[in-house]
Amino acid sequence: MLDVLACPRDRQPLRQEADDLVCDLGHRYAVIEGIPILLVSDAEQTHIEGTRALLVAQTKDLSSLRQIDVGPNEIDPFVMNVIGATNGSLYQHLVGKLTEYPIPRLRLPSGGNKLFLEVGCNWGRWCLAAATAGYRPVGVDPSLKAIRAANRVARQLGVEATYVVGDSRFLPFRDEIFDQVFSYSVLQHLSKANARDSLVQIRRVLQAGGSALIQMPNVFGMRCLYHQIRRRFREPRDFEVRYWRPKELLSTFTNLIGPSEITADGYFSLNVQPSDLRFLLTRYKMLVYTSEGLRKLSQYVPPLVKAADSLYVSASRIG
Ligand SMILES: [Zn+2]
Repeated sequence: MLDVLACPRDRQPLRQEADDLVCDLGHRYAVIEGIPILLVSDAEQTHIEGTRALLVAQTKDLSSLRQIDVGPNEIDPFVMNVIGATNGSLYQHLVGKLTEYPIPRLRLPSGGNKLFLEVGCNWGRWCLAAATAGYRPVGVDPSLKAIRAANRVARQLGVEATYVVGDSRFLPFRDEIFDQVFSYSVLQHLSKANARDSLVQIRRVLQAGGSALIQMPNVFGMRCLYHQIRRRFREPRDFEVRYWRPKELLSTFTNLIGPSEITADGYFSLNVQPSDLRFLLTRYKMLVYTSEGLRKLSQYVPPLVKAADSLYVSASRIG
């Protein structure tokens, strides 16, 4: 794991010293239950769970960490509880009732053992998807609880994945090591300034020739417009969704990463996966069929892309 990690403050290599990871300039990071906590403590955290993880790292007091044992055919209780939050409102009825892990299908070519980074991985559903597609997944998230769950689920499913606690604005990885970076439903929760800082970091950790695939919400999507009307177009705060214009996405990603293009991910919702149809209530299935139909049509009718609620921005680092 140390081969990919770097100090999030200065990108120096890290070495193990007692229970901590230390960089040459003396920055020290706790490792809790084998999980490196690579957050920058002097920065304001973007998520309350980052603050909580730092508290555990600083005090090394593990009493707030519940020990969870999951049987071979059980669903991890953490995933059971957060499924409505990580996968969106159409999954709300599954809270406490999941019978299998909804592992999405990655819209990327097969991995060929390439190194894959998921930014904001939570319990790791896209890392699991990446492993299935033949990538070597690494996940980063500011929540220690989520990363502990990601480790449990990977172990339970026999998947090899590396998970660390970290912040997308200060990615704790070496320069130019990832072939593919992926992020879904994450950067939309950051202020646009923080999202831009994260894109600069994503470019830094990408190899030349590598690419990023990032899902973002479209300000002009029908469902997105409805949500903006509901909050009366006021400035979003905290963890609320920031909506982006397609043109703004293109220019931002092109400037900060490299040549970019936008494709439709879905309509009428921000987070539903066609691979999860069997989990969905009948009344939502029709929505997913329509969304998939429009998405496929958008490949031939480009103006339709601009009406999708959920967009994928694909950006390549060329040099
Ligand atoms: Zn350092």
